[in-house]
Amino acid sequence: MAQIKLSNLRHSYQPNPASDADYALKKIDLTWDDGGAYALLGPSGCGKSTLLNIISGLLVPSEGKILFNDQDVTSLPPAKRNIAQVFQFPVIYDTMTVYDNLAFPLRNRGRDEDTVKRRVAAIAEMLEVSDMLKVRAANLSPDNKQKISMGRGLIREDVNVVMFDEPLTVIDPHLKWKLRSKLKELHQRVKATMIYVTHDQTEALTFADQVVVMQDGEVVQIGTPVELFERPAHTFVGHFIGSPGMNVLPCDVQNGAAFFRGEKVALEGPVTAAGDGTAEIGVRPEFVKVSANGAGIAAKVRKVADIGRHKVVEAIAHDMRINAILEGEAPNAGDDVMLDFKQSQTRLYKDGWLASQPEGGAR
Ligand code: ADP
Ligand code: MG
Repeated sequence: MAQIKLSNLRHSYQPNPASDADYALKKIDLTWDDGGAYALLGPSGCGKSTLLNIISGLLVPSEGKILFNDQDVTSLPPAKRNIAQVFQFPVIYDTMTVYDNLAFPLRNRGRDEDTVKRRVAAIAEMLEVSDMLKVRAANLSPDNKQKISMGRGLIREDVNVVMFDEPLTVIDPHLKWKLRSKLKELHQRVKATMIYVTHDQTEALTFADQVVVMQDGEVVQIGTPVELFERPAHTFVGHFIGSPGMNVLPCDVQNGAAFFRGEKVALEGPVTAAGDGTAEIGVRPEFVKVSANGAGIAAKVRKVADIGRHKVVEAIAHDMRINAILEGEAPNAGDDVMLDFKQSQTRLYKDGWLASQPEGGAR
């Protein structure tokens, strides 16, 4: 197992990249600690698979280095990197049995048959495929094929990192959460470094201790699920994580105070970005209080959605939509209400980036 460091990484699929737009990865500096459970989260096309393929050696980056425990592996082929990678679609040998498929990575490395037997039994039990070991892979359902593919990724105990690239795409919804919690359980047991790639926030937040959020070829934030929820470093993270995402409202900053359509909104603390001018206020729906005639900004309720555990109130204040999440009593569509933002959770963003800090200094 190893610490994996990506240093000054850039990658373009074009032979003569000119501007940043020609790069699938713009500039990545990132350290994956040994034994961590990571998720790499971002929308389709942001560069997640490119990054994984560079770590595994399927791609050589245009610029920069990959270090495993400070050893430069940038030019090492995949087989020399000691990595297991599970792809979006099953990679298995159709003509082999399930047993032989699972055994393959071990036999390939010259492990003795006793070890093979022990590991195959353990992994098969974990994935609940013990009754299929003698079946030829060609005869499996797509679900089960992908389970075997994942099993092949998990079978070796001596890898530097196990990487999963959207592995649950082809898996039935009811099996999805089960496999996801199995992976989490497995990580806690074996303590191998795992990188789990997904565009699904729920998958990322349930699996990972640390989530790396990517957008458009760049890492925008690395943090625990709680950190990403509570202090999005960028409005993109605020939008992308949460349901519904963070409210982002245009504002003017004058002498360090923020005004939304002329109304002063109290921020968590001092503004860090220099200068007045246009910026954005970010506050999550969880921290918007709705009342009939309390403090705050006047708004009209447009819609109330009951989603079981809580209600989502969609209101219009001036010309902007603001969502609030309420437990218990909620107003009705058409009601005039007041929206009060919890001050400690109301942040300022400038050019998309967090530009306020909590009262009492940075955390
Ligand atoms: P993700 O896995 O996050 O969906 P990818 O890493 O697959 O994103 O893709 C990042 C960008 O690189 C996209 O714009 C995609 O179109 C482009 N891209 C990916 N693979 C290739 C390739 N083999 N040739 C050219 N462009 C590619
Ligand atoms: Mg991908």
